[in-house]
Amino acid sequence: MLPRWIGTVAGDYGSIAKVRYVLSRHGVYTVCEGARCPNIFSCWGEGTATFMILGEVCTRACRFCSVRTGNPRGLVDWGEVERLARAVEELGLRYVVVTSVARDDLPDGGASVFAAAVRRLRKTGALVEVLVPDFRGDEAAVAEVVESAPDVFAHNVETVRRLTPHVRDSRASYERSLAVLKMAKDLGAPLTKSGIMLGLGEGFEEVVEALDDLRRADVDIVTIGQYLRPSGSPRHLKPARYAAPEEFERLAEVARVMGFKAVASGPLVRSSYKAYGLYKEALKN
Ligand code: SF4
Ligand code: SF4
Repeated sequence: MLPRWIGTVAGDYGSIAKVRYVLSRHGVYTVCEGARCPNIFSCWGEGTATFMILGEVCTRACRFCSVRTGNPRGLVDWGEVERLARAVEELGLRYVVVTSVARDDLPDGGASVFAAAVRRLRKTGALVEVLVPDFRGDEAAVAEVVESAPDVFAHNVETVRRLTPHVRDSRASYERSLAVLKMAKDLGAPLTKSGIMLGLGEGFEEVVEALDDLRRADVDIVTIGQYLRPSGSPRHLKPARYAAPEEFERLAEVARVMGFKAVASGPLVRSSYKAYGLYKEALKN
């Protein structure tokens, strides 16, 4: 059974239905709905949503993720960015997070599509955060995204160093993720961000070490949330534990002392949780 501190915070169902209608009319896909995120009321309420581009089939198979694994065979839907921008315009969103599956089947990992999305979305007046895959550590791909000038460049390490091979697809690595974040900052990304999940078997000190590694990679914003199993399938890891709210608070304190400009830490936090608020906080610090 889930502990009492994990659950959806209810809100205005009428406005959620309206947003859903607009999104489906434009044929765009949100992670908020796809992952049945418990924060949908608070995020959509503050004009923030996370959109998935580059399709719904991932070339990787991380053991915490519900996205379907397969080979999209190099297919790219070039109309996707325009549909997304029109939906954002119609909804008047203020802050848009754009993420994707890993596209190891594309030579640039999908970087050019991210860059096109950022350029087009900027014309809508929304602030844009990208949450990118590791692009196999390809500096040219990272540079292409950074040059499109997203307001925040995010890439998640997801878990601590020791658990990475157990939790993430074998093509991902902890060191490579840190390198991608550092690369983005060195190439001129104004704000970088990463996320980590608790409940996969990590110890408190290992999380502190991961936060320290992220700070050394010059990461500005960090999110810390609870891992929730997306299904009962054996491919999805069982949570090792549910971390108590007090542990999240202690980690938030540690992260602030380390010098992160903005921190979100709590059982329901996801990497794009209240992303607009975190962005504003980071700008102030
Ligand atoms: Fe899911 Fe991303 Fe891993 Fe693909 S790379 S399985 S989308 S977490
Ligand atoms: Fe959407 Fe992210 Fe907010 Fe969840 S936390 S509702 S995925 S923006």
